Amino acid sequence: MITLQGKGVSAGIARGRLSFLKRQTLSVEKRSIENADEEIERFNTARKAAADQLDTLSATMMDKIGEENALLFEIHRMMLEDSDYCDPVIEIIKTEKVCAEYAVNTAGSRLAKEFADMDDSYMKARAIDVYDVSNRVIEILSGEGQGITRNDEPVILAADDFTPSETAQLDRNKVLALVSRQGAVNSHTAIFARTMGIPAIISFGAFLSGDFAGKQAMLDGETGVLYLDPEPAIIQELEAKEACQKQEKEKLEQVRGKPTVTKNGRPLKLYANIGSVIDADAALAGDAEGVGLFRSEFLYLRRDDYPDENSQYESYRKVLEKMGERQVIIRTLDIGADKQVEYFRLPKEENPAMGLRAIRIGLTRPDLFKTQLRAIYRAAAHGNAAIMFPMITSLDELRRAKEQAKAAREELSARGIPFKADVPIGIMIETPASAVISDLLAQESDFFSIGTNDLTQYTLAIDRQNSALASFCDTHHEAILRLIRLTCENAHKAGIWCGICGSLGADSRLTKTFVDMGLDELSVEPSSILKLRTLIADC
Ligand code: PEP
Ligand code: MG
Repeated sequence: MITLQGKGVSAGIARGRLSFLKRQTLSVEKRSIENADEEIERFNTARKAAADQLDTLSATMMDKIGEENALLFEIHRMMLEDSDYCDPVIEIIKTEKVCAEYAVNTAGSRLAKEFADMDDSYMKARAIDVYDVSNRVIEILSGEGQGITRNDEPVILAADDFTPSETAQLDRNKVLALVSRQGAVNSHTAIFARTMGIPAIISFGAFLSGDFAGKQAMLDGETGVLYLDPEPAIIQELEAKEACQKQEKEKLEQVRGKPTVTKNGRPLKLYANIGSVIDADAALAGDAEGVGLFRSEFLYLRRDDYPDENSQYESYRKVLEKMGERQVIIRTLDIGADKQVEYFRLPKEENPAMGLRAIRIGLTRPDLFKTQLRAIYRAAAHGNAAIMFPMITSLDELRRAKEQAKAAREELSARGIPFKADVPIGIMIETPASAVISDLLAQESDFFSIGTNDLTQYTLAIDRQNSALASFCDTHHEAILRLIRLTCENAHKAGIWCGICGSLGADSRLTKTFVDMGLDELSVEPSSILKLRTLIADC
């Protein structure tokens, strides 16, 4: 038996023959041409044909991979119109007098390498998209198909990497799992695999040798381990795990769509934490009763300039519309500390976690803050929204933040833009200071949501980014539990609700403690919701 360790990106257990993806290789010859204009015309015609293919693909894939995921093919289409992609191709045709296939291949590989060399893991993962687009154009130019050769029996499919187009078009009945030498956790291939429920492991490197083709294999997409010629003991162990998971899943499915109530009949809200528009689908699939924390930072990350009011409005509106009547709590910008964004030009600080971050940025940059607030108020007209301020430590901060919200509403009224004014405003309790004065803060907040990730960091004086301190980080520390209890009691005395949106909310060892403390809401990863609902029913 050979054991290979990769990165599991889509959970599940699979057993079958290992088969390497057979792409009909595209022959990209360096062919000289006489007339560059004619060749550029050939490239442009192929580009248009590729754009048509992508339109069809995006329309037909919606059911299989979801509307948001299918949008990737729209992005591929836009790449075909982007001068960053097209100009270098045209330049190569003109200067080197070579065929369009060669020019697309060369320019595409250079651009893909630029992405692959970037530090940001999201940008790195875009390299495969460039390859995907280039291969499509070359295929059209050369008239050769690069389609996957179909296999008859279902197999565990292996490759260097899978392009998003390949993954989206896989026949689920013929593919038991995906394994690749390269790949990125954030790649669309990984996202599609999870959406389609195909177990997947990436990043085996050269260890995933082509010599293994045809071998019997078994894998665990959760732990990222691939076994070749698995021993009977491993087969037994993984089959037992699979049976257990299946049983557990069936049990969890029984509480889908049911309300969350304790043994004594007290209702709790089980909300989801999300960080993008796409995540709203996961929240719904996980049976979330709302969104307890929409980390709006995603709108500001991975870009080189501030998002404008309209683009923010569109994103919030999409999430609100997807969630329908369910509440969506949008946390205002929480940049700084571990979430640095170049174009914010934040000062270099000795202690960024204790520096200019979260609400402190909102209060020092009112224009930026009000742009986001206007976008939220406008989007609020399309659903059940709430606003939440991060890292409030004093009444003064809360009042100043609320003043900005009022100013944002007044600006919208003055401009005659439709919006919803009556949006609850709550705060995150993330510092010992805010927990200790939660009686005062509760007088002027509509709800509390405890951010235990930061509350732990600031209470125990343990940098949450520093893995070397893991042994000192007792997340169940009595000090944290007391601060949570105090916050919840003060919230109730003032007649407002109190939840947890930090990671501790999903810690099943504390579910009973939280129920006993009287917490009203837990906002967790969507995949934890059904499990927590079953646990709460026993509390
Ligand atoms: C928290 O601090 O617990 C929290 C939910 O916020 P974030 O993890 O985004 O800082
Ligand atoms: Mg936080």
